[in-house]
Amino acid sequence: MNIILLGPPGAGKGTQAKRLEANRGMKQISTGDMLRAEVKAETPIGREVKELMAKGHFVPDPIIVQMIENRIAQPDCGEGVILDGFPRTESQAEVLDSMLKEQGLKIDAVILLDVDEEALVKRLSERQHEDGSRRADDHPEVIHARLEVYRKQTAPILPYYEQNGRLKRIDGMQDVEAVGKAIDAFLDQIAS
Ligand code: AMP
Repeated sequence: MNIILLGPPGAGKGTQAKRLEANRGMKQISTGDMLRAEVKAETPIGREVKELMAKGHFVPDPIIVQMIENRIAQPDCGEGVILDGFPRTESQAEVLDSMLKEQGLKIDAVILLDVDEEALVKRLSERQHEDGSRRADDHPEVIHARLEVYRKQTAPILPYYEQNGRLKRIDGMQDVEAVGKAIDAFLDQIAS
């Protein structure tokens, strides 16, 4: 089963994707994590995207699309994927559909984690890694820029998925376990 997790930054997509990966054998594909790894390793792509990411701006489509295409084709994605952070624009959503079609695959479900924006700003400002470090883009001004980009560019893709009945809204303000259970119940329902 291939699914997309949608929702603004801080909605809990990464947490839920990791939970699904552990419980259902699907692979999490997080474009943000992949890009951060490139930045950390100081690869040519990493050098190109570092500044854009630090400001909360989008990375150019060709880089993202190539990354996704390569990753989906790997054998460990055979049981399905959880897309986390992609697609983020209408054009990425269209590219994804045609890319999957070429490979005889499709998106089975699109889950939107619905959250309150004020709570998100608080959550993101408090988000820290276990070692106490913080993401370069989890600072107040950048958080607001990322939410703005979400509202302007990503929220408009919701009707694209709503149109063909693929979108499921889940209350992302519940605790992690409750959100996970709601996602599981929905996936069980569409699998049966
Ligand atoms: P995330 O970890 O998903 O919040 O992504 C962190 C940052 O990576 C974003 O603010 C963008 O700069 C970049 N990024 C991740 N996914 C995409 C995407 N699908 N399209 C463009 N930029 C992306």
